[in-house]
Amino acid sequence: MTVTRFAPSPTGYLHVGNLRTALFNFLITRKAGGEFILRLDDTDPERSQERYVDAIKEDLEWLGLGWDRVARQSERLDRYAAAADSLREAGRFYECFETPTELDLKRRKQLNMGRPPVYDRAALNLSEEEKAKLRAERGPGHWRFKLDHERIEWQDGILGQISIDAASVSDPVLIRGDGQVLYTLASVVDDTEMGVSHVVRGSDHVTNTATQIQIIRALGGVVPQFAHHSLLTGPQGEALSKRLGTLSLRDLRAQGVEPMALLSLMARLGSSKPVELVSSIDDLIEGFDIADFGSSPTKFDVNDLFPLTARRLHSLPLEAVAEDVAALGVPDELAPRFWKVVRDNITVKADMAGWWVLFRDGAAPEIEEEDRAFVVEALELLPDPPYTEQTWGEWTAAVKEKTGRKGKALFMPLRKAVTGMSRGPEMAEVMPLLQKKPG
Ligand code: GLU
Repeated sequence: MTVTRFAPSPTGYLHVGNLRTALFNFLITRKAGGEFILRLDDTDPERSQERYVDAIKEDLEWLGLGWDRVARQSERLDRYAAAADSLREAGRFYECFETPTELDLKRRKQLNMGRPPVYDRAALNLSEEEKAKLRAERGPGHWRFKLDHERIEWQDGILGQISIDAASVSDPVLIRGDGQVLYTLASVVDDTEMGVSHVVRGSDHVTNTATQIQIIRALGGVVPQFAHHSLLTGPQGEALSKRLGTLSLRDLRAQGVEPMALLSLMARLGSSKPVELVSSIDDLIEGFDIADFGSSPTKFDVNDLFPLTARRLHSLPLEAVAEDVAALGVPDELAPRFWKVVRDNITVKADMAGWWVLFRDGAAPEIEEEDRAFVVEALELLPDPPYTEQTWGEWTAAVKEKTGRKGKALFMPLRKAVTGMSRGPEMAEVMPLLQKKPG
């Protein structure tokens, strides 16, 4: 069975980078039919917060990325302890006592000598007596997994054949001195016990994958199929990591980005297929293939979301926005016409409000000096509302007859007098929406 998981740490809000990971895992499962797990990597009690758990769920729900079950690492600590015991029994786990400063010093020395900063395994040579002494002095040590020094290889779903020399990687710390289990172990135990078949995550995890493959094998688990997607950059190729905070899903939602616009972009960005605005998640599932994605960094421009959002809104029937329209105070009988007129003239839903204010209260008219007298004369020929679709034609015909103006000289000043703008929706459609006589 296909089982995937999206495994955010609830230490902040989801951003567009996380969304890519979530979406790919979601689409793989939904396409194959299987289970999509929302796993909360909350083993760090200091940084994990309940409000982020709620926010993560809310953001995924907003996008329509439903999960089949939730797993929380903080509720599975006994499983990780059991796994640690079995690694200890297998001779793959060793206790170390170096302080962060000592480790840093070692790293610098290695770098100075032009060598990769790989942990030197000094702790492997400690006798039981020495360890007891260090434990007494420094408290319990941290635990590292002893890698087998061989090449670790896998066929990556995006990057292709990968081969990493385990000797070039430090033995990963899996348990901290204070007993906190680290992600590298917890994730492996979860993936193994939950039958995770496919893991898609960012390419910043490639080295983790190498070590995790050995840990999975040491625990007798089945290695899932891994795929590492490229990381997002800004439009100029600049690193996005610092700006991701401002690219949170909730910020985008607050800016009016439509979920289908965001999903349509993220499901194709960095792939060989063009971005297409789709109308449903089913269409995304249909067209998704992880093999379409490439390994080079993927440029993301938040501005691309707005034309897609506008196009999405243009395609929506009134039912999809009826609540928003009603919330503005648009009377039910006017709602269909209001939406028809407005949807082609907005970028985000919030733009509707301005249109309604204009129809309800009237515009601040934009009238050129030389048209003032003409507009005053024209408005005398306009009765009070309610207006119909015929009103514009009848009115402009009467004005033409009385003033002799025609064409642009006739229509433009009147459009500006009514809407305050020189461009916009069909005036015949606008007139019936007006709640007040202009002027
Ligand atoms: N909590 C990890 C992260 O957010 C999960 C990585 C993974 O998918 O294994 O980076």
